[in-house]
Amino acid sequence: MDGLHTTMTLNNGVKMPRLGLGVWKTDNHGAQESVAAAIRNHYIAIDTARQYGNEQGTGAGIKQGLQQAGLKREDIFVTTKLYNGDQGNADKVTNAFNGQLQALGLDYIDLYLMHWPVDAHFIESYHAMEQLYKAGKIRAIGVSNFDNDRMEKLLEAAEIVPAVNQMEFNPTNQERDILTFDQSHGIQLAAWSPLGGGRSLKNPVIEKLADKYHKTAAQIILRWEWQRDLIMVVKSVHEDRIISNSQIFDFELSDEDVQTINQLDEGKRGLWYSDFQWHDPNAKIANAIDHWDDTDPSKPL
Ligand code: NDP
Repeated sequence: MDGLHTTMTLNNGVKMPRLGLGVWKTDNHGAQESVAAAIRNHYIAIDTARQYGNEQGTGAGIKQGLQQAGLKREDIFVTTKLYNGDQGNADKVTNAFNGQLQALGLDYIDLYLMHWPVDAHFIESYHAMEQLYKAGKIRAIGVSNFDNDRMEKLLEAAEIVPAVNQMEFNPTNQERDILTFDQSHGIQLAAWSPLGGGRSLKNPVIEKLADKYHKTAAQIILRWEWQRDLIMVVKSVHEDRIISNSQIFDFELSDEDVQTINQLDEGKRGLWYSDFQWHDPNAKIANAIDHWDDTDPSKPL
């Protein structure tokens, strides 16, 4: 299958679409509008989180989009994430998960990720996620923002190898060590902020390639990530951008141009443990960072 329906087979055999829509920094209304727009324009993967404070809008958008596209729930792939403040024992995680199902209006989740490793709780939280997986409520479980040390600790304790590690990945942050380590354990890397939160679009090398291929800067970056064999979730609240971001299947970057973008790596993360408090179990849902204007260059992301 080509285009937006192209999937990657995860380590448990579940097929995950490679290009999806993300809804970070979007309120409930924006999430509903953009998710519905994405689904009626052939996206079949949606990425949200309790932290974003918009699972309800995302769920409404899924319902609306499915109706408009004439699709069924099982035709799409929904990812959401365990909120840091919900980490802990099995009861706590299960209650949180059930609340998320209710907010989304769904009866199962395709991929449930641990949003950030909360050091005091990530092992027991992951065990609770394993139980939910075994109970058939989740088709695949994974993590997000796990560096290699934490991933090693998790793998020592885990019964089920995470299917996915969702990490920031874009031209200036390519996470080579994490990519290599995760690949060697059969863990698929999924790219968040694939456009660097919008900042990578202004990179002169990317702009030059956009001219060369008669494509937008976003299409150049997403095509590069596609050729790097990643899964990616890209965010836009504009239907025209949602559509154009998916038009990356009618051209191919030369090996040389893939290398050129590979060389832009500065190991420069927009967001990491030390930068702010997402690893804090008490981080507020939909806090200030979830509403940053990510086109404002004075903001770190
Ligand atoms: P992206 O790299 O997807 O960039 C989004 C930004 O780029 C927005 O400002 C958007 O603006 C703009 N944009 C999108 N398409 C275009 C275009 N064609 N032309 C010009 N501007 C464009 O950033 P995100 O940080 O949102 O990452 C994507 C998703 O990854 C998130 O939405 C979320 O689902 C996930 N994520 C996961 C994290 C985790 O910890 N696991 C952390 C961060 C993100 P506009 O909307 O106005 O079009």
